Amino acid sequence: MDVLWAARTDPGLRRPHNEDNFCARPDLGLFLVADGMGGHAGGEVASRLAVEAIEAFIAESTGPDIDTVWPFQYDAAISLDANRLRTAFRLANRRLQDEVTRQFLLRGMATTASGLLIGADGVANAAHVGDSRIYRHREDTLVKLSQDHSWVEEQVRAGVLDASAASQHPWRNVVTRAISGGDEPMVDLFPVPLHDGDRILLCSDGLSVTVTEESLAQALREESELGALADRLIDAANAAGGPDNITVLLLEVHAA
Ligand code: CA
Repeated sequence: MDVLWAARTDPGLRRPHNEDNFCARPDLGLFLVADGMGGHAGGEVASRLAVEAIEAFIAESTGPDIDTVWPFQYDAAISLDANRLRTAFRLANRRLQDEVTRQFLLRGMATTASGLLIGADGVANAAHVGDSRIYRHREDTLVKLSQDHSWVEEQVRAGVLDASAASQHPWRNVVTRAISGGDEPMVDLFPVPLHDGDRILLCSDGLSVTVTEESLAQALREESELGALADRLIDAANAAGGPDNITVLLLEVHAA
């Protein structure tokens, strides 16, 4: 299975810094977006440390000769790759904890993380904490695979708010789960079966709050080249005011 990819990250139009981070490591099958938050440059640090820690553990646990002591309890009920992802996310949380202990000014920093790990057998696993998103586009249909860990989306799921009230709600930016260096994060894990021609979009909320799913689907339908598609999505978020940092990571799957 061949995976093409393209990524763009942009500060948007109203924020002085870009606190988003991403990694694309086709050699490891790892693709990840992280959206940092917290004052005093904390957001930038949180998303960068989390991406580095996750990437490091995935690299360390690659291949048939895994030479590492599994740092957390191994869960036999889920796949090896799901265990690798969950462990990597927990290690990222620990990494943030260490940094806050060292640098008191960074307390309160946190980050989302949404990632995909594509195994050598072509089976992908997703891991997700926070309100960055994972979408799949297949045969002209866009499906959101991740659930936002945000206060408003939890209210929508509970039937208390409707989607349009949620988008206007003053608490719309409140994230209910994050990698923060505090309690171990509860990580959503799910398999993502990949078919020839599928496209996967990983993005921070700087895209998803500004561009409707209808417009995302239209762009995915119309743009045949991933780099041009990534540019178009960044431009669309900025055309809508660019209120937040925007990160777009696109994958396209081709059966070998
Ligand atoms: Ca954000």
